[in-house]
Amino acid sequence: MMYRRMVIKVGTNLLVDDKGIRKNFLKSIVAQIKPLHAAGREIIIVSSGAIGLGIRKLNLGKKASTLSEKQATAAVGQIMLMQAYEEAFRAVNIPVAQVLLGHDDIKSKSRNINARNTLNKLLEWKVIPVINENDTVATDEIKFGDNDTLAGIVGSVVSADAVLILTSVDGVYDKNPDTNADARIINEIDDINEQGKNISTEGRTTMGTGGMGAKLEIARKLNYAGIPLVIANGNADNVIEKIAAGKNEGTIVRVKNEKLGPKKSYILMSLKEKGKLKVDDGAKAALLNSGKSLLAVGICGVSGEFNFGDAVEITDMNGAKLGKGMVNYSSKDLEGIKGRRNSELKKELGGNFYEEVIHRDNLLIYR
Ligand code: GLU
Repeated sequence: MMYRRMVIKVGTNLLVDDKGIRKNFLKSIVAQIKPLHAAGREIIIVSSGAIGLGIRKLNLGKKASTLSEKQATAAVGQIMLMQAYEEAFRAVNIPVAQVLLGHDDIKSKSRNINARNTLNKLLEWKVIPVINENDTVATDEIKFGDNDTLAGIVGSVVSADAVLILTSVDGVYDKNPDTNADARIINEIDDINEQGKNISTEGRTTMGTGGMGAKLEIARKLNYAGIPLVIANGNADNVIEKIAAGKNEGTIVRVKNEKLGPKKSYILMSLKEKGKLKVDDGAKAALLNSGKSLLAVGICGVSGEFNFGDAVEITDMNGAKLGKGMVNYSSKDLEGIKGRRNSELKKELGGNFYEEVIHRDNLLIYR
């Protein structure tokens, strides 16, 4: 499988050590990207390291713990990070661009399209975008969470052919490698939902902000989006070249689905779940087998706090995730109407009435 458009995420542990930027590492990824770039492949980098570099620059030890400390260290470190990328790529005559994103830029439809257009233009111009979260102004509520998540979202925004997460471990282990000498790397995951249940997210892999749990969660989502994810050791020889050539390296989470269209992939990847709706068996069957919208009558439980237009996850009675969609009612309103028939609601609510709690067009069923 050849990937034409790839998002490559570079973790802090790879890029930064006690002395600062690991220049040789950066050189090695630039050397691997250069021939791909020359061959017309489109590469987007999502890079961490701003906070780590800022901490070292300011001699803070490991102490960027409060939000404002993280924001301030990121402001210092981000320019060092970009300077390092600019220098490394300038040596091979490839222009780079800094793109800082916040979750607000992605969740707003118009800004999401705007970000996509800008990234597409950069790629068309053969510029390599280097993306990071806009940490300096990102508060906890509006954060992506971590750069693994950001890389997955960017992959869906630009409809990438693959997302590659470069980390400091060799891939996904079947058991916790710290406590099991016989732990082995899983090379291929064909069914993330089935195999994912037996995968270890503990040990060695908890470095960085995201850890293996976050990476697998992203893999699950990308799987629905039809985009394969590869998790591999960034220090391994020619790892990017090998993966770009379709060779087995690290762990690949394969996909069965076609790539999702922009609307559904926006709902799936770019909107955070603000709550959950639990549906009864009748509604479950209507959603899974008959392509129906979700109506109030099928809802038995509402959790979380959300408003009109927010995204929520839909689960069955046992808590199994069925899908995700944008709601026409707030959580407060839903408490009052769940389990009730439309005929009755129409009488009561008159003009302020949506027949669907989630319209089919705004609904994504996990397959
Ligand atoms: N945006 C953070 C930084 O550049 C890293 C977040 C992450 O690695 O998940 O320092």
